[in-house]
Amino acid sequence: MIKVTNLIKSFLTTEVETLALNGVSMEIKEHEFVAIMGPSGCGKSTLLNILGLLDNPTSGEYYLDGEEVGHLKESARTNLRKGNIGFVFQSFNLIDELNVFENVELPLIYLKIGAKERKKRVNEILQKMNISHRAKHFPQQLSGGQQQRVAIARAVVANPKIILADEPTGNLDSTNGKEVMELLSQLHEEGTTILMVTHSLHDAQYADRIINLFDGKVVSGVIG
Ligand code: ADP
Ligand code: MG
Repeated sequence: MIKVTNLIKSFLTTEVETLALNGVSMEIKEHEFVAIMGPSGCGKSTLLNILGLLDNPTSGEYYLDGEEVGHLKESARTNLRKGNIGFVFQSFNLIDELNVFENVELPLIYLKIGAKERKKRVNEILQKMNISHRAKHFPQQLSGGQQQRVAIARAVVANPKIILADEPTGNLDSTNGKEVMELLSQLHEEGTTILMVTHSLHDAQYADRIINLFDGKVVSGVIG
């Protein structure tokens, strides 16, 4: 499903060049649940952003379903992202002005799916995420755990090929964190491919395998 070879990403700010990824090669197979671990600043989010087509690598190849997608223009990346990739962030990233239903509906609007079908699919996924009773609430009226369940609903509503989760339990207490991990685990059991960045060894145990990053390089876990 995903294969990257020798990914390099350098950020150039006014004074310094930061080598965030320094030759990352790895593969993720369909239906796998993979955890990425490593110290702060080692390049985890940078890698996830490239895999999620939010950014391009400086050099190296990225194959998504056999197609090289590492050097597309932003508009092509945006198009490919829709419906193919679902994101879950540590800070939930819901839109405050939209209620729960409307937040989850957004990816379907981008895909130009009709209103009736949207309603059906959003209601189904809200039910599955155990958050139907909050459909008319706004993000600020929800607990962190509830917000993350909404974010997961939004990430999966369009049936993406892969879920990319960047420290999804990072802002949650252990009870809510466990609930979020169990939802991700359930999605995995139903066949969703998941790549999750985490600091928590406990959360990483839900994954099939762990890839360790250090200083922009994979230091273990290359082979599944
Ligand atoms: P992690 O998620 O593992 O904590 P990041 O991928 O966020 O690490 O960052 C890796 C390195 O790249 C860090 O040194 C960080 O400061 C740098 N970096 C990340 N994004 C940018 C950016 N947009 N501009 C400049 N430097 C960046
Ligand atoms: Mg990060």
